[in-house]
Amino acid sequence: MRRIAIFGSTGSIGQNTVDLLTRQGGAGAYAVSVLTGGRNVALLAAQARALRAGLAVTAHPECYAELKAALSGSGIEATAGPQAIAEAADRPADWVMSAIVGAAGLVPGFRALAQGQTLALANKESLVTAGPLLMAEARRHGATILPVDSEHSAVFQALTGEDIAAVERIIITASGGPFRCWSVEQLAQATPDQAVAHPNWSMGRRISVDSASLFNKALELIETHEFFGVAPDRIEVLVHPQSIVHALVGFNDGAVMAHLGAPDMRHAIGYALNWPRRRETPVARLDLAAIGSLTFEAPDPVRFPALRLAREVMKAGGLAGAAFNAAKEVALDHFLAGAIRFPGMASVVEDTLARLSGESGLTNAPVDLDAVLGMDQHARALAREAVNRLRTRDRG
Ligand code: NDP
Repeated sequence: MRRIAIFGSTGSIGQNTVDLLTRQGGAGAYAVSVLTGGRNVALLAAQARALRAGLAVTAHPECYAELKAALSGSGIEATAGPQAIAEAADRPADWVMSAIVGAAGLVPGFRALAQGQTLALANKESLVTAGPLLMAEARRHGATILPVDSEHSAVFQALTGEDIAAVERIIITASGGPFRCWSVEQLAQATPDQAVAHPNWSMGRRISVDSASLFNKALELIETHEFFGVAPDRIEVLVHPQSIVHALVGFNDGAVMAHLGAPDMRHAIGYALNWPRRRETPVARLDLAAIGSLTFEAPDPVRFPALRLAREVMKAGGLAGAAFNAAKEVALDHFLAGAIRFPGMASVVEDTLARLSGESGLTNAPVDLDAVLGMDQHARALAREAVNRLRTRDRG
């Protein structure tokens, strides 16, 4: 039986993964070794019981008693805390889903690669913060990383059987989010609830706001560069409000291969789960006549500066990705908490990167896991200072 571990099983990607596993036979077809979650302990315990998991881990030590009680009599082991999550990644598994949100997903995914099996990677932050390390670790252990982000799964599928040397460019699409047509003045008044209301995709709260600011696409630009090894100037972003075309690959003979599908993450998750085969998924089938038209436009760099910042990060290299992601996470937390305005998120990230650009450690330090985690903490501290400066300026 194939052994499965899901890191972040209680989240949007995690729940979709559990849904597909259940449709494909659940506990009768898979041996689920590990499930991890955060505060949603009731759901974690219910998933663990339904899939007869070996171990359930909550990220929060204070949730341990609740998890233990919810699993009582089931024979399922319970542990808690970031260290317990990292250790769970050492448990034998043939297929590991990395779907924790944020930089917290890096270490478990990295450790899981040591088993030399398959890592289904939804946690794009891993590639943004430590792309070269992660790819090298996979090579070192003969492990396979399969992209779960819909755009990257689309590119991966378009490249099947192709020679990467024949790729001229990769185009990833962006829906443009709920604020695609909003003015600068309107953006300044945007609330977290408005930012979370994505027009096409149903996703976790944090990635939904990142989608609205195009920071999600900025992370995906870097992710594309790191995963496929294509130069930044060969990667383009195209706004496509219908979210039907997920990515396109242009080849040196002028051909462009596009990947189309309904905006439902179960396609990309199912592809990674069943790769290299395909299996049926419950994803709605495309009716292009009913959709009528597919439209495309260039992203607006003035209202959405995130893509420009991502290009600067790729140019800088080194630990710039770790700094970028950390500053973005701090800015996002403060926007969600109502402490800064929507455009303030880009200001905080830009301010943090500007301060770091004077530090030689950003691009010259050796990039290992400790350096990445160190930069993550350092950039978070700088970003919090940037938030304070912004708030003082806004009050003044
Ligand atoms: P969610 O916020 O819905 O879920 C995140 C998961 O991580 C939950 O299980 C949550 O637990 C857990 N978690 C939160 N904080 C921590 C922490 N500090 N340590 C350990 N676990 C934690 O996120 P999504 O499912 O939307 O996204 C997951 C990842 O996949 C992200 O990296 C995202 O960018 C990426 N992704 C998501 C897509 C989507 O459609 N949702 C599409 C493509 C990529 P709990 O909820 O119990 O607190």
